[in-house]
Amino acid sequence: MKIEIDPGAGPCFGVEKAIEKAEFILKEKSVLYTVGDLIHNEAEVERLEKLGMKTIAMEQAISGDYPNVLFRAHGEPPSSYDSVKKAKVEVEDATCPIVVSLQKKIAKTFSEIKDGKGQIVLFGKKRHPEVISLMGHCDDKAIVIANIEELELIDFSIPIYLFSQTTKYRSEYYLIKEKIEKKLDELNLLASSQFSFNDSSCKIVARRDEQLRNFVEDKDLIIFVSGTKSSNGRQLFQICKNTGIETYFISRIEDLNREWFVAKNNIGISGATSTPKWLLEEMSLRVKELVSES
Ligand code: SF4
Repeated sequence: MKIEIDPGAGPCFGVEKAIEKAEFILKEKSVLYTVGDLIHNEAEVERLEKLGMKTIAMEQAISGDYPNVLFRAHGEPPSSYDSVKKAKVEVEDATCPIVVSLQKKIAKTFSEIKDGKGQIVLFGKKRHPEVISLMGHCDDKAIVIANIEELELIDFSIPIYLFSQTTKYRSEYYLIKEKIEKKLDELNLLASSQFSFNDSSCKIVARRDEQLRNFVEDKDLIIFVSGTKSSNGRQLFQICKNTGIETYFISRIEDLNREWFVAKNNIGISGATSTPKWLLEEMSLRVKELVSES
């Protein structure tokens, strides 16, 4: 039997940087307060909590009771920076540079289209921390659409500036782009620069789609390891499921079930862009044990 870890799996560079920053601060200060989950992976958060990391809410961060706070890779709206500054709390910023660049683009577009000269449309998950951070850069004025059905929320009579949350499905984003173009074409508005498309989905996530498809093609079982809150994890898991290969979504070693491995010859272990490599390796070792016991 072959058991293989997906070589393309493991944290993206934004998540890796955030973890490295947290570890560095913990070594120096032995305590660190992060505003919200540092990453969407429960096992990694628990490992860092054992080193002294504590997760707090923004209301706690601005209470003045905590000396330092870390802003996570998803970013924060400008109001969060203002609030912690007022509370004289030291901020360590782990916002992913790709998210920072998107925040800046949205802020610039917003400053140009204020006064009804257009609308920002953001393809994303409404309550996702990154979307909350991006909304803060346009005074919460963007129209957030979670899927193609929500295109009806857009006002097609004024210019549209389309952006995507970095981790959203690229193919779905392009489908949304096509639908908007089709609608504008029907209204004879496509040629009059009514539409600006910003290719803001993260290329690292987009590459993972293809890598994952290549990795799973010869497998007869996939163990997909992800935190339950990871939106990217859910999407990548769905890619595995759509291939028709037997696939299980799990977050912890205890979730593994010996019965899954009966009569399987080629098992693949993969994960989200927030799944740590150590967890994939531990999964692989445990799968080997379960296979040998059965
Ligand atoms: S998925 Fe892309 S944008 Fe998001 S944290 Fe990772 S590298 Fe940054």
